[in-house]
Amino acid sequence: MEKTVYDVVIIGGGPAGMMAAGRAAEQGLKDDLRVLLLEKNESLGKKLLITGGGRSNITNYQLDVRTFLKKYKDSDKFLFSAFSQKAVKESIEFFNEKGMATKVEAENRVFPVSDSAQSVWDVLVEYMRQGNVEIKTNTVVTGFEKEGNKIVAINLKNKEKIFAKKVILATGGTSRPETGSTGEGFNWLKDLGHNIIPSNEALVPIALKDSWVKALSGATLQDIKLTTFQNNQKQEVHKSKLLFTHFGISGPTILNMSKDVGELLKYGDVEIRLDLLPSFDHGMMNMRLQELFKLDDKKKIKNSLGSFIPSPLVDIVLKLANIDPEKINNAVSREERFKLIDVIKGIPMQVKELLGSDKAVVSSGGVDLTEVDFKTMQSKIIENLYLVGDVLNIDRPSGGYSLQLCWTTGWVAGSHIVDK
Ligand SMILES: Cc1cc2nc3c(=O)[nH]c(=O)nc-3n(C[C@H](O)[C@H](O)[C@H](O)COP(=O)(O)OP(=O)(O)OC[C@H]3O[C@@H](n4cnc5c(N)ncnc54)[C@H](O)[C@@H]3O)c2cc1C
Repeated sequence: MEKTVYDVVIIGGGPAGMMAAGRAAEQGLKDDLRVLLLEKNESLGKKLLITGGGRSNITNYQLDVRTFLKKYKDSDKFLFSAFSQKAVKESIEFFNEKGMATKVEAENRVFPVSDSAQSVWDVLVEYMRQGNVEIKTNTVVTGFEKEGNKIVAINLKNKEKIFAKKVILATGGTSRPETGSTGEGFNWLKDLGHNIIPSNEALVPIALKDSWVKALSGATLQDIKLTTFQNNQKQEVHKSKLLFTHFGISGPTILNMSKDVGELLKYGDVEIRLDLLPSFDHGMMNMRLQELFKLDDKKKIKNSLGSFIPSPLVDIVLKLANIDPEKINNAVSREERFKLIDVIKGIPMQVKELLGSDKAVVSSGGVDLTEVDFKTMQSKIIENLYLVGDVLNIDRPSGGYSLQLCWTTGWVAGSHIVDK
């Protein structure tokens, strides 16, 4: 059987990969170029759909390229040649021309008028459809076969091989791994001879806005559940222990969560809800509380609740549930009991900031920029490899600067991969 050799294979169906695939196909349409996109998830762009709290802050409205690039600090000198081909203006026009209206909000953040990341996803998927990009989801790439300084085959987890003349790597970075960005692209790049700058995002405690935490300083809670929320949308769940400090919360789970909380903070307020008794559901708690209040019916609630929840939290739980601590158990109403259960299952904690993150030098990590030709996004190490999006080691602030990198680098790679 004759083997299929694709002209271009893009690995990773995030915003950078989709833009690159659409552009390569658009360029190669007249020549019947075969463009294939491989994505390990069952669907494309999982992370894209959660950007900007689900609204997707697609770029930042600064039309002067040099001024815009200052936001990328030392990377600006590398980025200029790519941005002179497609920058903010051209990116906004790209989406507008494809039917997605945009608006500019505070701090020049640009969003779709629909307030939905789905609109961005729709434009990219339609762009690829028009160029006849073949898309294979549920397809996990495990590495490459190389001859000299060229990739000759892409290995899949199911042991199949895909043959490609040119490859665009768009596997993303390492934040929010549940969206598919698990960083394996970095291992392949190392094997291919690229220098990968490690991500040194700080693991730090989390400071809270709630003043009540000060009174709990030093208290440790075991077997609790923490759930992060942004715009009332559930983000992540962690079960473990928690340490209160005079400024907020700490402990191994918090340190591990801090990177993701930091990422979320770029896009708005973050709330962490603390479930003191994750193994009890509402019905079971109601039953236990009724038993407790019956057994201790003449006691004050503040003196008996400590047998049910960790005693350092009794005062604060009663306060948040708006129940008088002096109340006698047999006078606690059904509504008060239900409110108490709600608080015990989800004490709201408002994140103020990551502690010390202002001092830590945070680098996003990724491919050393000196190893990439930014006129084309071609690797200087592997002749038929192009690198786009979060795989590149570029520090940037929040405000649409990450997705703009995807539009620019994806478009540039897609443009040049064809005309060579
Ligand atoms: C919560 C959150 C909100 C954000 N909001 C914004 C925002 O509003 N504006 C902004 O500019 N930036 C935002 N960002 C950053 C932005 O999402 C990223 O910069 C962007 O998604 C990077 O795109 P990418 O295509 O390079 O990689 P990714 O989006 O990470 O996509 C990589 C793709 O590659 C696939 N993949 C990985 N490994 C393999 C493999 N072995 N085989 C096959 N496929 C593989 C993954 O499944 C994934 O689909 C946000 C990030 C987060 C976490």
